[in-house]
Formats: sequence, structure tokens, C-alpha cells
Amino acid sequence: MSSVLKSQLQERLLAEASRRRLAFLQAVQALDGNLALQLEQLSPDEWADLSTLAAWPQLQPHIKQLKQLDAALCQQQLGLYGLCSDCEAELTFEQLYQDPCRQRCTPCEQKYLATQQGSWKL
Ligand SMILES: [Zn+2]
Repeated sequence: MSSVLKSQLQERLLAEASRRRLAFLQAVQALDGNLALQLEQLSPDEWADLSTLAAWPQLQPHIKQLKQLDAALCQQQLGLYGLCSDCEAELTFEQLYQDPCRQRCTPCEQKYLATQQGSWKL
């Protein structure tokens, strides 16, 4: 992938980071103002690990999104951004542009979803 495309993806990921973090803070603010203040004291990459958040089931989808985001940002720092976390195949520009936090190539994503569905049936 060219460096121009890579820098476009980097900008896209950072924009997605701001968007997800703002949406999360707003959701917390609506539930508990003190908790929102507490979060603002922390670095955003520590938010998903805050144990008090487990008390709010309605925040779990946001927390999942934050964890995906943290993983993508961490991969970017390591120079591994855009590689499938299972088979290390390079994801395409289109895949990453559509979902900047995407972790898997299409075959691995399908396998992953199949195992998830399998565990729900148990
Ligand atoms: Zn893969």
C-alpha cells in the first residue's frame, strides 16, 4: 500500500478514535455525571479497563468499540496496523477505510464469527 493511502488511513483511524471516545463519554455522562468526570481524569486508553464500568450493561457495546479501537491504535504504534490478527494477511485500503478498527481478513472474520455463533448455542 502506498504511503499516501497509509496516511489517509491513519487520519481516518484518528478521526474514528475521537468519534468513538466522544460517543462513549456522552453515553456515560447521560448515566452518571461523576463517572464521566472520573473518566476525564484518565487517559482514554485506560477507559475500557475501568472496573466500575462493568456495572452498566448499556455501556458494554461502547466498551467493546473502545477495545477494538485501542487494539488498532496499538497495532499502528507497532507498525502492524492493517494486518489480519489471525493470519497476518494485509487488509485492503477499502476494508480499512470502511472499518478503521478491522482486525481480520474476510476468511478469518468468517471463521471467527462461526466460532462465536457456536459458543452462543452451548
Ligand atoms: Zn486472516
